[in-house]
Amino acid sequence: MHSTRPVVLITGGSRGIGASVAQLAASRGFDVAITYRSEHEAAESVLAACRASGARATACPGNVAVEADVLRMFAEAEAALGPLSHVVNNAGVTGKSGRLEDTSAEVLRTCVDINVTGALFVAREAARRLSVKRGGKGGSIVNISSVAAKLGSAGEYVWYAATKGAIDALTVGLSRELAPDGIRVNAVSPGMTRTDIHERSTQDLGRLERLKPFIPMQRIGEPEEIAEAVLFLMSDAASYITGANLPVTGGR
Ligand code: NAP
Repeated sequence: MHSTRPVVLITGGSRGIGASVAQLAASRGFDVAITYRSEHEAAESVLAACRASGARATACPGNVAVEADVLRMFAEAEAALGPLSHVVNNAGVTGKSGRLEDTSAEVLRTCVDINVTGALFVAREAARRLSVKRGGKGGSIVNISSVAAKLGSAGEYVWYAATKGAIDALTVGLSRELAPDGIRVNAVSPGMTRTDIHERSTQDLGRLERLKPFIPMQRIGEPEEIAEAVLFLMSDAASYITGANLPVTGGR
């Protein structure tokens, strides 16, 4: 039995920004599907928090860089919760930080596969399922980009910044392509946000504290502050906003 609540699928919803988006969405009346790659226990605890807010919630493991996984994750989410109305294209990695000249082909390819090819697979499936022209109920897509697309991340991970530049282009182009399909497409570009990505993905211990002085507001952002921006863009309060890219950076 499907409920009348809006249904959001969030890729990379087991930890960090995606987990905060999932929990805020649940508390604002959404049913929630999260995807994740491997952290089963983290995903379960996000589901428990969503359910405690009264939401129906389900988790779909898989790799966004694998087309078959993306198709299956969307199918599982809709089988469990009914037709999707919103998709948050959030899963992403950086790869170990360093200069481009010292970075392996594997790190570069993995980052592009997950952040660009994966985001394209997810956006494509969202378009297919949400489009009013294809029998969907319309809705919105929010892509998680990064301020890195503007700053370039010299000496840290210029390849990651490049993948986020691709997300910015995707957001503009897809917003125009899908406007007649009843789908709004926007992006949020976080600045330095307190999640595991810094130590686990960049493998740069102490990065957040080291870079804090360069943030005009002199503090690291919290994932809940990014989630607020995502929920705004998903909401009816943003009904005339498409193709926007909202920086949430503390002024960086
Ligand atoms: P995080 O804490 O490392 O969490 C990453 C999430 O993505 C996890 O749920 C992880 O699943 C999932 N994931 C990673 N690779 C995946 C794959 N191949 N397939 C499916 N799921 C995958 O990261 P975060 O900091 O929240 O970042 C979320 C997004 O915000 C990313 O796109 C990132 O680039 C962007 N962003 C972050 C910051 C920041 O300062 N944190 C700043 C700007 C932009 P598992 O738990 O199973 O590993």
